[in-house]
Amino acid sequence: MGKKELKFNSKAIHGGQQPDVAYGAVMPPIYQTSTYAQPSPGKHKGYEYSRGANPTRAALERAVASLENADFGMAFSSGMAAIDAVMKLLGPNDEVICTRDLYGGSYRLFKGVFEKFGINFRFSEMVDMEELASQINKNTKLVWLETPTNPMMNIVDIEAVSKITKEHGLLLAVDNTFATPYLQQPLDLGADIVMHSATKYLGGHSDVIVGALAVSDEQLAEQLYFIQKSSGGICGPMDSFLTLRGIKTLHVRMQRHCENAELIAKYLENHPKIDTVYWPGFEYRPDHEVAKKQMRGFGGMISFVPKGESYADAIKIVENLKLFTLAESLGGVESLVGHPASMSHGSIPKEKRQKNGLVDGLIRLSVGIEDADDLIADLDQALN
Ligand SMILES: *Cc1c(COP(=O)(O)O)cnc(C)c1O
Repeated sequence: MGKKELKFNSKAIHGGQQPDVAYGAVMPPIYQTSTYAQPSPGKHKGYEYSRGANPTRAALERAVASLENADFGMAFSSGMAAIDAVMKLLGPNDEVICTRDLYGGSYRLFKGVFEKFGINFRFSEMVDMEELASQINKNTKLVWLETPTNPMMNIVDIEAVSKITKEHGLLLAVDNTFATPYLQQPLDLGADIVMHSATKYLGGHSDVIVGALAVSDEQLAEQLYFIQKSSGGICGPMDSFLTLRGIKTLHVRMQRHCENAELIAKYLENHPKIDTVYWPGFEYRPDHEVAKKQMRGFGGMISFVPKGESYADAIKIVENLKLFTLAESLGGVESLVGHPASMSHGSIPKEKRQKNGLVDGLIRLSVGIEDADDLIADLDQALN
């Protein structure tokens, strides 16, 4: 059976992998080398210089491509370097439409760096497809979306957006960090580019900063490899190895993240001190049907707002949590808690944050794979 036909759980372990050619090592060796001997100028075994390509990185790139049902993968030194490479497909006067509720670092890169180079960014809820279409003009080149969004957990209908981008000849890029390919495969839903902060669920162990892209269009892949090699924001061999090791348990971890998050979301929803819980699995949400249609589960991320929405209350709760570590980031085996207004989303102006529902009292949980009873007991003591 070809590896392309394998089911997801098998692909997580075998996708794009084969024993190493030199000694049959089952895990790809960490090829910690910058360069490769050439018997004669221009003659080599496929590798010349590690900015261009490295065997350990190539193994990770094949694994990511396989999980996303893509033909090509690229691994970068961070999620931001991966996004940076996508934006370098564009030039002055080009326009991008992005989801309004955006990862803070993406917002900073777009407004603080790429706007200086003449690329313009518009923002859309991407709920009303007519509103989205009305924002497109002759300069629009790319739609950039996150779903579920960070930290409000809004769901964007990838297939509906892709109909519009195809109609107008635009590229559609999806930041798939929160969902992971285990829950959602954007290329199958019509996207052109999938991006990951592999720092999060793909790596899964809070021990690397890595980014990735996956595409199936050959010309687009060539452009991105050219940018990757030219700008040089590549993933190193050690980090490639660690991310690959993480990927091998992605399916098992994601299953448990989803189970634990469901129990915690329901616990929070019934807690008298809590006002709102943001989790895509609640049936009363207007976007629940879309979540059910395009996702295999609802993920491990939850945001919630304690009654009163106060900054001070939120700070007290995050300080009181013991098993949930107060830290930036998400997607690791250990549970983390964050306060977006002062941490991950501090770089977004306050009026802009609040307009999107990101109030000062909002708390974000990255639910890990510990025992759910212990996690709930921790929340219970912190809330009471
Ligand atoms: C963390 C994150 C990024 C940035 O990735 P880094 O690996 O930290 O550079 C981008 N998008 C989302 C949704 C993220 O959570």
